[in-house]
Amino acid sequence: MRSFADAHLDIAWASVHYHRDFVSGHPDSALGLPNLLAGGVTLACATVFVAADEDEEHSPAGAAGAQLAYYEALPERSGGRVVWPADVMDVGTAQPGHKVCLIGLMEGCEPVESPEQMTDYYKRGIRVAGLTWNKRNRWASGCMEESGGITPEGFELVQEIDRLGMIHDVSHLSRRAVDDLLGAAHGRIIASHVGSDAVFNHPRNLTDEHLKGIAKLGGVVGLVFYSGILGEGRATLDDLMRHLMHMLEVCGADHVGLGSDLDGGFGREELPTGIRSAADFPCIADALAERGVDEADVDKICGGNWRRVLTAVM
Ligand SMILES: [Zn+2]
Repeated sequence: MRSFADAHLDIAWASVHYHRDFVSGHPDSALGLPNLLAGGVTLACATVFVAADEDEEHSPAGAAGAQLAYYEALPERSGGRVVWPADVMDVGTAQPGHKVCLIGLMEGCEPVESPEQMTDYYKRGIRVAGLTWNKRNRWASGCMEESGGITPEGFELVQEIDRLGMIHDVSHLSRRAVDDLLGAAHGRIIASHVGSDAVFNHPRNLTDEHLKGIAKLGGVVGLVFYSGILGEGRATLDDLMRHLMHMLEVCGADHVGLGSDLDGGFGREELPTGIRSAADFPCIADALAERGVDEADVDKICGGNWRRVLTAVM
């Protein structure tokens, strides 16, 4: 069984938002531990996502704390089948079908009240951070509002993220903020869940220049499975593969991976046709092989590249 990695799963958010238990899974869920195990996923970035939440009960920091508590309870609740936060040894020994190792990704830094506070999130398992989600916040401008880049305060947070040895995620940033980050960051830069702008023009997708920039700095770009940014109407597996093959051509086989975003604010009906859940990930490996990608590269794209980049910061 092939070992897959996925750089973007809104596990805590989706479980709470849709009232679907992650450990037991749910008939309507593309995510869920049973699906991840069936697909051979052994490593994933699990998000703390509060930016879009109209959560009236919690402050952003409170909501982030609640999502982290959700992850902290998973190892025991899953009988050891979920590891949080995973270390290098966990990832190295995880057998596909038996264990899923998680590390934390903060999708939008609303919960971070000051750069120094990032240390607290680091201690609780966050290793990847994106400054903002779609819109402008105090740290940076988002992709749905093209007006600016990283703010002066945002550069301080970038420095702190670098100092802690964390990874930057450019998904959801404005084009200018991506430029700023590529110019300023000393740490690794990834895109956890994006498409290719050359294949389908959308503010959430990365230009070839940005794809290349991330690859040049040793990062990895993860392909999102959300039809809404892959093309017009519902995407097919062919559409998905067009994005993946283009990213591969631009970045090279060492710098492309998967970042499905399953259940991340969209349902099964917006997954590419032919993919119903994480259990169907092996069809991506088959589609790569059919397009002439050799076995070693298929393995890197399906999991090896994320294992390399993510274990470096565990
Ligand atoms: Zn997202």
